[in-house]
Amino acid sequence: MTTRRTFVKLSAMSAALFSVTKSFSKSLSAAGEGTKPVVLSTWKHGVAANEGAWKVLSSGGRALDAVEQGVMVTESDIKNLSVGLWALPDRDGHVTLDACIMDEKSNCGSVCFLQHIKHPISVARMVMEKTPHIMLAGEGALKFALDNGFTKETFDRSPEADAAWKEWLRKSEYKPIINFENHDTIGMIALDASGNLSGSCTTSGLSYKMHGRVGDSPIIGASLFVDNEVGAATATGVGEEVIRICGSHTIVEMMRAGHSPEEACRIALERIKKSPKNLKDMQIGFLAINKHGESGAYALHKGFNYVAYSANNNNQLIDSKFLLD
Ligand code: ASP
Repeated sequence: MTTRRTFVKLSAMSAALFSVTKSFSKSLSAAGEGTKPVVLSTWKHGVAANEGAWKVLSSGGRALDAVEQGVMVTESDIKNLSVGLWALPDRDGHVTLDACIMDEKSNCGSVCFLQHIKHPISVARMVMEKTPHIMLAGEGALKFALDNGFTKETFDRSPEADAAWKEWLRKSEYKPIINFENHDTIGMIALDASGNLSGSCTTSGLSYKMHGRVGDSPIIGASLFVDNEVGAATATGVGEEVIRICGSHTIVEMMRAGHSPEEACRIALERIKKSPKNLKDMQIGFLAINKHGESGAYALHKGFNYVAYSANNNNQLIDSKFLLD
C-alpha cells in the first residue's frame, strides 16, 4: 500500500527525474543538431589518428573498432615521444605503457605498466573481450599479451628517446612542464552511424616518472568514460589531478544533468582548481561528446588542442578554451 509519506517521496523523485530529463534534452537541442558519425581526439597527433578512425566510421563501422584503430596509428608512430614504445621513458630508462578502451555496452578493458608491446590498446581490448577482468598490470599484462599472440619488442628505447633521457639524467630534475613533450596522451571518443559511442586512451605516461607510476590513462572513469545514453569523455594532462576528481565520469554525469559537453568539461576543471597541489605548471585537458554528436573541450591552461572529424568538419584542429591564464 502506498502511504502518504511514500507517495510524497515518489512524487518528488518523479519531478526531479522529469526536470533532469527535460534539461538534458534542452541542452542537446540548444547546442545544435550535432552530427554522426564523428570522432574526436586529443592533441595534434589526433589528425593522423582520426584518419585511421574515419576509415572505419565512414564505411558504417563500429565506434569501438574506430577508436581502437585510430589510436593504433599513434602507437605505431616512431616519432611520437608520448605514446607507444618509441616514447620517452621513466626516470630509470624504461618505457611503460597504459591504455584503456570502453564500448557502448559499458564493456571495458585496460592495461597498465605494460612493457615491450607495440599496441597496448589492443591488449586492453583483449582484456575486455577475453577475460572476466577489467585491468591487467605489468608482468601479468605482458604474459597475457604474449599468450594471446602479441610480439615482444626487445629494444629498450628509440634513439631519440634515449638521447633525451640521457640529457635529462644530467640534472635528473622532475619538473612537469605544461604542453611539452612530457605529457601528450591520445584520448579518442567516437559516435558511429548507428548512434553508438566508444572511447580509447593510450599513453607512455609522464616522462621521467617514477618507475611503477601509473596515471589516469588506464583508469576507467578517470581518463575515459562512456555512457551510451548520455555521452563520452576523455582526458589528458597530469593524471594525478584527473584521478582525484574521477574526471571523465564527472563530465559524463554533468552532461546527464543537462550541461553541454564544453560546459561539463569546464565544471570538471573547476573541481580540479580546488586541488591541494599547485597547478601553475600542470596542464589538464578534457574532451567530450554527447549522444547527439555535439562536442566540446576545456583545459586548465592555454595550449590544449583537439581534432574533430565528421562529414561537416574535415579533421579540424581546434584550440580549446581554458580556465586559468
Ligand atoms: N595523463 C597522462 C598521465 O598522467 C599523461 C598525458 O596526458 O600525457 O600519465
